[in-house]
Amino acid sequence: MDFKSLRKEIKTKNISVKELVNEFFSKIDSKDPDINSYICTTNENAILQAENIDKLIQNNEILPPLAGMPIAIKDNICTKGVVTSCASEMLKNFVAPYESTASGKLWSSGGICLGKTNLDEFAMGSSTETSCFGVTSNPWDTNRVPGGSSGGSAASVAAGLCAAAIGSDTGGSIRQPASFCGVVGLKPTYGRVSRWGLVAFASSLDQIGPITNTVSDAAEILYSISGKDPFDSTCLDKPVPNYLNNLNKSIKDLKIGIIKECFEHPGLNPEVKESVLFGVERFKTLGAEIIEVECPRFNDGIATYYVIAPSEASANLARYDGVKYGYRSKEGSNLFDMTSKSRAEGFGDEVQRRILIGTYALSAGYSDAYYKKAQKVRTLIRKDFDNAFRKVDILLTPTCPTTAFLKGDFVDDPLSMYLSDLLTVPANLAGLPAISIPCGFDNKGLPIGLQLIGNVLEEHRILNAANVFEIDAKVIKNKPII
Ligand code: GLN
Repeated sequence: MDFKSLRKEIKTKNISVKELVNEFFSKIDSKDPDINSYICTTNENAILQAENIDKLIQNNEILPPLAGMPIAIKDNICTKGVVTSCASEMLKNFVAPYESTASGKLWSSGGICLGKTNLDEFAMGSSTETSCFGVTSNPWDTNRVPGGSSGGSAASVAAGLCAAAIGSDTGGSIRQPASFCGVVGLKPTYGRVSRWGLVAFASSLDQIGPITNTVSDAAEILYSISGKDPFDSTCLDKPVPNYLNNLNKSIKDLKIGIIKECFEHPGLNPEVKESVLFGVERFKTLGAEIIEVECPRFNDGIATYYVIAPSEASANLARYDGVKYGYRSKEGSNLFDMTSKSRAEGFGDEVQRRILIGTYALSAGYSDAYYKKAQKVRTLIRKDFDNAFRKVDILLTPTCPTTAFLKGDFVDDPLSMYLSDLLTVPANLAGLPAISIPCGFDNKGLPIGLQLIGNVLEEHRILNAANVFEIDAKVIKNKPII
């Protein structure tokens, strides 16, 4: 249920926020065993937060913007006093001593924290299959994955187990699961939202963002969590516009660029292509001008990302040494032995694979050939975008080459799994905002996502176009089976 409907429910049914929150917890109790979207729920704290909002309502006080909206948080984002596990044996018992800036802003805007959602271990993956808490299921077909790495967040929104969720996106982890689960997912401009309290994966790519039922809910959350933060020096000191105010502007004459290279890629599923091109026609009917643009380096994004992201990950994950915090092996006769055993036992296969790739790419003698070269291609990708934005206002691509795949399809084939990020990683490499919105279904009834990419800090443009599209298309007529 979106924010608007929930607010109406509170008003017309005359129920308290506490009752509403309890309804969500009962639904989680009955449905989540089939989905496994939550790692834990935070009932006691949620009830306290709800009672505070109820008091404000009773006293007719001015309510904060997200008052009473039940929100779930991906479990790689620190929530004070609550386990923040990154779905890893390494941090399974790690209780965060502080609150992330983004989640803290949600609570001070009146949002209610329902709990922490499942993810691929340390946000590395595209299927939520590498979690030490087990696989999350896609609410549209429980034999299928919800996407990843924010699969728990997307699945919980799609199954109605929260009103909205927060994810993190390093190479597509908000948008790809949003696409697989038929919901909205927004990755903001790099630096729009503070990364303070987000467990680092690849620091030059990571961003926190919303996963929601509607575009306007994404706009509300983005408004709440954006803005300068003294705790994150990469966070931009730029004014935060009220994204809600700009949502309903006409998109007549908006110039939308269709990236030629994406639509020509042999890995693009024909049904996805057809549905997204149908979306393009809708945009035309709504008055937008459609222009084909070339981004010759777009498809090199995936190779570039899979050098840069593991390199940064290998450096970031060096802190898990069995000494300071996290898992410590019982074995090990000396410091070196203890550290290597702790890392071998505490990290799963995919995380270890990334550390190995990254360490190799950064090692003396190889860093010029791999890491430095990848950085150069990254600049070329950014330049392609700069050129495109000289001709158009926003860009359009499918979000993913396919719809949700079956569990187990790629567990032994990481390279094929990585291809799932083909269309999402370029926006991270260039630091651009991008949103995935539902645009149709394949012949199995699985949702298809359309991606809009904006220029730096032009979230308002992609949100506006996405909102006009959403209202016109009303694609989600069918509902998830769960
Ligand atoms: N699927 C990509 C990866 O495995 C993206 C992950 C992410 O955005 N956190 O690296």
